[in-house]
Amino acid sequence: MALQTTWPRPFVTCASPDPWYAVFTMLGVAPEILVVEDDSELRQEVVAYLREHCFVVREAGDAATMDRSLKERSVDLVILDLGLPGEGGLSVCRRLAEHGRGPGILIASAQGEETDRVVGLELGADDYLAKPYSPRELLARVKAVLRRTAHVRATAPAARYQAAGLVFDPEQRLLSNEAGEAALLTQAESAILDAMLSNAGRVVAREELAPAGCHGVGRAIDLRVSRLRRKLARLGAPDLIQTHRGLGYLVDRPVPVQ
Ligand code: CA
Repeated sequence: MALQTTWPRPFVTCASPDPWYAVFTMLGVAPEILVVEDDSELRQEVVAYLREHCFVVREAGDAATMDRSLKERSVDLVILDLGLPGEGGLSVCRRLAEHGRGPGILIASAQGEETDRVVGLELGADDYLAKPYSPRELLARVKAVLRRTAHVRATAPAARYQAAGLVFDPEQRLLSNEAGEAALLTQAESAILDAMLSNAGRVVAREELAPAGCHGVGRAIDLRVSRLRRKLARLGAPDLIQTHRGLGYLVDRPVPVQ
């Protein structure tokens, strides 16, 4: 399921007759959209309309709120107003597009922002909507961008590991179990788990888990591993990483990669 960028996804059912949605409801997932717009009346309208059409929708009135929201969980598409208070839409667009596998970006620009719209597309936005736009136009653009970005994601999937009933997504640093519980790992914990899982079946020395160029950090690695183990334990896999005293650490089971 190409659009499934975060796991687990909210379960959504929808009675829409559109076959496009039927695919998502059949699988129990729905594309997730973040509407970034400072005009609260317009934002509410867009959010309500998209929800009616079976999308999972979140909203933000400025870039800082958007950042907090995306930190919590990723989305498939950001509808981005260019005229925002604080950090402007173009700057936000540039930041979002820097992540190669970030969300699709649909710019919404008012009259007089045509130049910005072109710059936005050059910066990596996937499409644009000129304000004022009709709900039907919005829906058509949203679907088109989701289709395109789903294709991009399908052709460039990041490795996700499955081990001991857990799924680990190194790119999002997200560890989740079948019960839908999840833990966000720190950069260091994520790098360690990535190294352990990609070397499943062999003992990995502590030195190999240290960042390049760092020496004498054995104790720091041990601490990170024990913090990581606590997160693994909370999600039901306390024994995934075994200690081989004096040698290093081992994940002894084969780890399928999605
Ligand atoms: Ca605005």
